[in-house]
Amino acid sequence: MKHLFGGIEAGGTKFVCAVGTVPDDIRAETRFPTTTPAETLGKAAAFFREWAGITAVGIASFGPLDPDPQSPTYGHITSTPKPGWANVDLGGAIQRALGVPIVFDTDTNGAALAEWRWGAAQGLDNFIYLTIGTGIGGGGLVNGKLLHGLVHPEMGHIPLPHDWAQDPYPGRCPYHGDCLEGLAAGPAIAERWGVPGPELPADHPAWELEAHYLALALRVFICTLSPQRIILGGGVMAQRQLFPLVRQKTQAYLNGYIQSPTILREIDKYIVSPGLGSRAGVLGALALAQLRGRG
Ligand code: ZN
Repeated sequence: MKHLFGGIEAGGTKFVCAVGTVPDDIRAETRFPTTTPAETLGKAAAFFREWAGITAVGIASFGPLDPDPQSPTYGHITSTPKPGWANVDLGGAIQRALGVPIVFDTDTNGAALAEWRWGAAQGLDNFIYLTIGTGIGGGGLVNGKLLHGLVHPEMGHIPLPHDWAQDPYPGRCPYHGDCLEGLAAGPAIAERWGVPGPELPADHPAWELEAHYLALALRVFICTLSPQRIILGGGVMAQRQLFPLVRQKTQAYLNGYIQSPTILREIDKYIVSPGLGSRAGVLGALALAQLRGRG
């Protein structure tokens, strides 16, 4: 019998669970709101119990979290401000409920792995995946391995040059105020302009400013990690007009310094949307599961 895998895209507002093997072989999928840990994890476990033959479950989660399999708190959400979820042993709860191995990582590392296997990063050893939505996070592969380290990257929390005359909005990160996430995540757009981003016209100055902050951040990531490609996902990037703006500004801010034809002449193929679209999240969880569970 073919091995089946489980995947959980664990988000701050909803959970998406799937059973299957590859993107065109998803046997079942369900989604439900993220409520209390007991209720939410109970629903997830009940969904997977219906299926025989699941050999591992991948969990691509919101964070911060502990992704180190050697750590006693592997599988835990750590310091999230989300009520009730700090220090929750998400991975352990699923592992104990189902009796199969789990693979636990950030939602952005999961999405990056799915894009590497089936999407816009196939064949690359070094790339990053950024999600720009309710928050901003980044993951990816470096030298063919998922980005881990002391804990995991927090690319949304880098500081940026902030011109207070041009943009008096103070930012809304509870830790840093005007970090990248504080200035450029979806809730910051809504708060700064007084209406949610999707209600702003495509030629509103909000998008020029948003692209400015994203391009400043991309310059940092390009200069530090030298990614071969950058994938931009998340709800804010549904504003397609952002892509050409971000590409132009990234080129402008690098100012010809990085002598790569990819950046100088093929930026359209360098800064791209996810090949898997909004499916990158749950497929990322399935891809994580497949790092284990073949034995
Ligand atoms: Zn921050």
